[in-house]
Amino acid sequence: NPSLFSAIDMAPRDPILGITEAFNADQNPAKINLGVGVYYDDNGKVPLLACVQKAEEILIAAPAPRTYLPIEGLAAYDKAVQELVFGADSAVIQEKRAITVQAIGGTGALKIGADFLKRFAPDAQVYISDPSWENHRALFESAGFTVNNYSYYDPGTHGVNFAGMIADIKAMPAGSIVLLHACCHNPTGADLTSAQWDEVIAAVTTGGLVPFLDMAYQGFGAGIAEDGAVVRRFADAGGPLLVSNSFSKSFSLYGERVGALSVVAASGEEAARLMSQVKRVVRTNYSNPPVHGGKVVATVLTTPELRQLWEDELAGMRVRIKEMREAFVAKLKAKAPSHDFDFVRDQVGMFSYSGLTKEQVGKLREQSIYAVDTGRICVAALNSRNIDTVIDAIAKVL
Ligand code: PLP
Repeated sequence: NPSLFSAIDMAPRDPILGITEAFNADQNPAKINLGVGVYYDDNGKVPLLACVQKAEEILIAAPAPRTYLPIEGLAAYDKAVQELVFGADSAVIQEKRAITVQAIGGTGALKIGADFLKRFAPDAQVYISDPSWENHRALFESAGFTVNNYSYYDPGTHGVNFAGMIADIKAMPAGSIVLLHACCHNPTGADLTSAQWDEVIAAVTTGGLVPFLDMAYQGFGAGIAEDGAVVRRFADAGGPLLVSNSFSKSFSLYGERVGALSVVAASGEEAARLMSQVKRVVRTNYSNPPVHGGKVVATVLTTPELRQLWEDELAGMRVRIKEMREAFVAKLKAKAPSHDFDFVRDQVGMFSYSGLTKEQVGKLREQSIYAVDTGRICVAALNSRNIDTVIDAIAKVL
């Protein structure tokens, strides 16, 4: 049929990649891209972590043939990741109730989880935060789900509309799948307090909902264990639980595509059944995951010196972002004292919903500073050399 392809429309452009294209085409040598979703160091470069480099040296020193990994991935990786996500002393690990499969980044973990859920909860609907990472909706829709929003961001306070959120969760039909950001909410940077999580966990549990925690930024908020605490609290609450996690940011291993999907079952016997079904989903998607990234992460997590190095390097990234938040607030206060940006200091993770309007973002672009139309800026793209330029430009458009 010659008209099969000729009738296909152009798919909508990815808004974030569109910014990068415009940025790349900009001839101004002083251009700054705050629209990205990656961590840059103070030199404006994506870091190659020393722990990763050392792990690669270990792997190169003992060259191995590239056989297939098992469907569920490298055993040492799955075990180390499970302990990282749930805590090594977790009851769900001791009782063998948690399964973990290596996945192709956090995105792959979400898609495997979504396809798995669609097989066994075909009529459930999915709820994501308003707003959420822009791929969440498309991912769950592509698995065949209807995707709804729950209230999340309050533009008035630049924080969480918790009353709206909890009311929406309580109104979800039993069996609904609720996607929650475990920490460092993307795109807003607004996280729940510990007391608010208590209420969410209670509402999810009593409402018979299926929580799916997405943890793409473990270690970028308050610390590795602190950021993972909500996963542990959900695991302790009983009931089904899915967790996707990613090492793209925390290991600066974006292109290696390393992540994992974990599922918590009611018993070890149930977990074995779930594992067999999750493996089926993997098998029919991409058969088994790639070797290199999994080996690097497993080597770092299981080698005490490298593990310590990683924790230090991750803390370095976390602290630098916090310093940039502080500097952003202080410098803007000096330049534009009538505007209150203190909330940027309270937001967590790589991003900030800055409150800049689409129009203001457009005016920033005229000065070769690129941000997302929603006002999302990547705080991790600020550094000691570009921050004054950014602040001057923002002060001009306010
Ligand atoms: N989930 C959230 C909230 C994210 O922000 C991202 C990446 O930006 C992902 C998942 C996907 O991570 P990965 O790049 O490992 O697929």
